[in-house]
Amino acid sequence: MYCPYCDEGEIYTATIKKINKNIYICEECDSLWTTDDISDETGSNFSSYMESIGLEPLWSELCDIRKID
Ligand SMILES: [Zn+2]
Repeated sequence: MYCPYCDEGEIYTATIKKINKNIYICEECDSLWTTDDISDETGSNFSSYMESIGLEPLWSELCDIRKID
């Protein structure tokens, strides 16, 4: 599945390790979704989201990273 914002990056699902939360993220532009309702109206941004929960905006904070279809 390709990102509805940049049309270039593929969407991955991952878990934020420290809070054990599942997210969806674009590998290219770091758009982020917290549910599987992935559209160009529902996304936010990985950096903003991670900062809002007090974590560094790093892919190393993620685990179980898998590409979704
Ligand atoms: Zn993207």
